[in-house]
Amino acid sequence: MFGNLSDRLTASFNSLRGKGRLSEADVDATVSEIRRALLEADVALPVVRSFTAAVREKAKDAARSQALNPAQQVVRIVNDELIEVLGGESRELNWADRGPTVIMLAGLQGAGKTTLAGKLGRWLKQQGKRTLLVASDLQRPNAVTQLSVVAERAGVDVWAPEPGNGVGDPVAVARSGVEQGRANGYDVVVIDTAGRLGVDAEMMDQAIRIRDAVSPNEILFVLDAMVGQDAVNTSVAFRDGVGFTGVVLSKLDGDARGGAALSVRGVTGAPVLFSSTGEGLDDFERFHADRMASRILDMGDLLTLIEQAERAFDEKEAEDAAAKLASGTFTLDDFLSQLRQLRKMGSMKKLLGMMPGMGQMREALENFDEREVDRIEAIVCSMTPAERRDLSILNGSRRSRIAKGSGTTVQAVNELVSRFEAAKKMMEAMTAGGGPGAMGGPGG
Ligand code: GDP
Repeated sequence: MFGNLSDRLTASFNSLRGKGRLSEADVDATVSEIRRALLEADVALPVVRSFTAAVREKAKDAARSQALNPAQQVVRIVNDELIEVLGGESRELNWADRGPTVIMLAGLQGAGKTTLAGKLGRWLKQQGKRTLLVASDLQRPNAVTQLSVVAERAGVDVWAPEPGNGVGDPVAVARSGVEQGRANGYDVVVIDTAGRLGVDAEMMDQAIRIRDAVSPNEILFVLDAMVGQDAVNTSVAFRDGVGFTGVVLSKLDGDARGGAALSVRGVTGAPVLFSSTGEGLDDFERFHADRMASRILDMGDLLTLIEQAERAFDEKEAEDAAAKLASGTFTLDDFLSQLRQLRKMGSMKKLLGMMPGMGQMREALENFDEREVDRIEAIVCSMTPAERRDLSILNGSRRSRIAKGSGTTVQAVNELVSRFEAAKKMMEAMTAGGGPGAMGGPGG
């Protein structure tokens, strides 16, 4: 995500490193590099102009005040400006005073609305809010079924026209969905609507009729972050058509260049409330401008990482694991359960990408093979409980049985065993005398 933009911006600061003072010429040179980086990332021109103007002015102030450490000064200025264009402080959803909060989703076909409905449902449920998903996308042949599937996976209820009645009226479905939500005491009703591949009058008209029928508390415009330059036109068309109160950026996990994310607030005035970073239901976060700016400037996003860890990890289990590590009784079984918890947080690649400074290792990260983790899991799963507890019983025939069972090789099994034993020895040495918990936090 934003790989190129990150690289270009970081490179533009590099030429300032080691300089004692900032000259006006340095400012001009850096600002034009920043300008090029933004344009290349498909950021909308008016946004690029105001961004670079603000950076130039503040950097010249810094130059005049003879501030020390120019590179740091400029990084701070660019960071502040990024937070500004990304929308500053994030806001809460607008909750209804009485009755269910109605959230309507709008956006082009394929933007990620249906997927988002499931993610929102799951997220709201985690906060104790009963949520009903309403299938008002009757255009796309599979949309109703798809919504039912994500609702089931998210563990929330769905309101959909009976099969066979599917040709019905999306406005009526939306209206009856909200009535259903009210009658049955739901806290939130999320309405999935139809999109087209391009903006057209009929689709916009339908969205407007649904909006008028249900008076939503929020209309969330779902914008595919991968679409590049088209993002601006699409956003403006939706703003002027159905209108929206907030934006959700989807597919931020892809190689989005950043243009949509950086432009949408400036172009439409609406805040980005959430971001979507994958096809899984948990690949979803509140959007925080400051954290996104940190990620773009390759300063990492530890806050999001920690939040995801809190969602995925069972605290008691993590403490037990730490105690076992310290006392040398950590087994492959414990390792497996830690590994699985870690994987609940999302792909390893994404987790690593949130660490500060990982931009430098982008290539290694791109080549990270998620299947390696699958193989490790498969090997451990192919062992008997006794083997997992005591690796010393693994003789040749057991090892070849495990290799066969896991679809790997004896060499892979040997490697895992010796790596685990070496790591365990190291842990024991490190925690010797430290007592339980000395390692702190979950392993990994
Ligand atoms: P809709 O037409 O707006 O309802 O879009 P869908 O929810 O059907 O999504 C279209 C495609 O994009 C599906 O294949 C989704 O799995 C995929 N998708 C949705 N959100 C994301 C995301 O954040 N990241 C990635 N990689 N894919 C996504």
